Amino acid sequence: MTDQAVTTIATEKVNLLDFDRQGLRDFFAQLGEKPYRAEQVMKWIYHRLEDNFENMTDVGKALRAKLEASCYVGPPKTLFDKGAADGTHKWLLGMDGGNAVEAVYIPEPTRGTLCVSSQVGCGLNCQFCSTATQGFNRNLSTSEVIGQMWVAAKYLGNVTHQNRRITNVVMMGMGEPLLNFDNVVKAMSLMRDDLGFGLASKRVTLSTAGMVPMIDKLSEVIDVSLAVSLHAANDELRTELVPLNKRYPIDELVGACRRWLERKPRTSITFEYTLMKGVNDQPEHARQLIKLMRRLPNCKVNLIPFNPFPGTRFERSGAETIRAFQTQLLNANVLTMLRRTRGDDIDAACGQLKGQVLDRTRRQAEFRKRLEEGASHAA
Ligand code: SAH
Repeated sequence: MTDQAVTTIATEKVNLLDFDRQGLRDFFAQLGEKPYRAEQVMKWIYHRLEDNFENMTDVGKALRAKLEASCYVGPPKTLFDKGAADGTHKWLLGMDGGNAVEAVYIPEPTRGTLCVSSQVGCGLNCQFCSTATQGFNRNLSTSEVIGQMWVAAKYLGNVTHQNRRITNVVMMGMGEPLLNFDNVVKAMSLMRDDLGFGLASKRVTLSTAGMVPMIDKLSEVIDVSLAVSLHAANDELRTELVPLNKRYPIDELVGACRRWLERKPRTSITFEYTLMKGVNDQPEHARQLIKLMRRLPNCKVNLIPFNPFPGTRFERSGAETIRAFQTQLLNANVLTMLRRTRGDDIDAACGQLKGQVLDRTRRQAEFRKRLEEGASHAA
């Protein structure tokens, strides 16, 4: 066979990581197999992290051969991985066509959090996020989203239901997860499924820049936790920082959050607020945030000190300012956490994820031009 022929056959095979439980059952039915066989294979894939059908010893020989011929377990390839001094670990994972995204593992004494990407690049253009400077290429498939967790779990020696190195997943990597709705929901259902990674709803968090209609839709289809990237509690400033605010202003966003809480009365929403020096870190900004949080009882604020990246015009707020901002919120009885910066020595902190994006927009070129102009002005 020529190489060409081999590739053609290989690409016709189905990647089993693209199916949630129901999808896998349907696929097995198409193969003329009983649905429980799908569940058996699912346990091999997600509990034992096995990608070779030959090793799935309790699956009959004939079925193994059938699987071999029609499908494969295809996680993304690790192009590069690196550990930080604080135990944080970052993977650069290769997708097809020269694209790559990043996933980050953040160990803490009582939990291990994996931060997962949802798109190659991002189209939202939030002004303080380095992913934005890369522009947007495409959505990740289900297998590319869940595959990030599969690769990390395998590397870390995670054993579902036994030795959980990954106790939490946050969809806070590259991309806007609600703009890749179906694939992200399917991947999160595999994170939640007992036959998948078996994580409770509180431990799988989707973070959005505020795609209002999709927040409503999400609450109808899956039980996960919600985080909203707020960064400013007045429309003028928020539109400047998060251009999506122009389409879905704060009032509408708060409305969607209130509907979410009505549907899920015992849950809370986390509001992420990245603190940038002199931009959104002043007492008046805290007052605006307090006022907004009054409309969202039991919700939390997560303060993130800004993480710098080359070419950004923003700076991190000073330690004193950050403390004062937090104290002001706490004094007003707003539950407020300060996110410790992790993994910044390997550029793995919030807003520093870049990957390799073959940009389909013009954003990367525009940003590069600005960078070069900036450099020549400075020279
Ligand atoms: N698009 C989604 C998922 C990305 S989450 C969202 O916006 O929620 C990444 C989180 O890190 C968001 O809260 C984002 O606002 C924040 N962030 C982005 N750039 C940052 C930076 N340079 N420093 C600190 N936090 C940043």
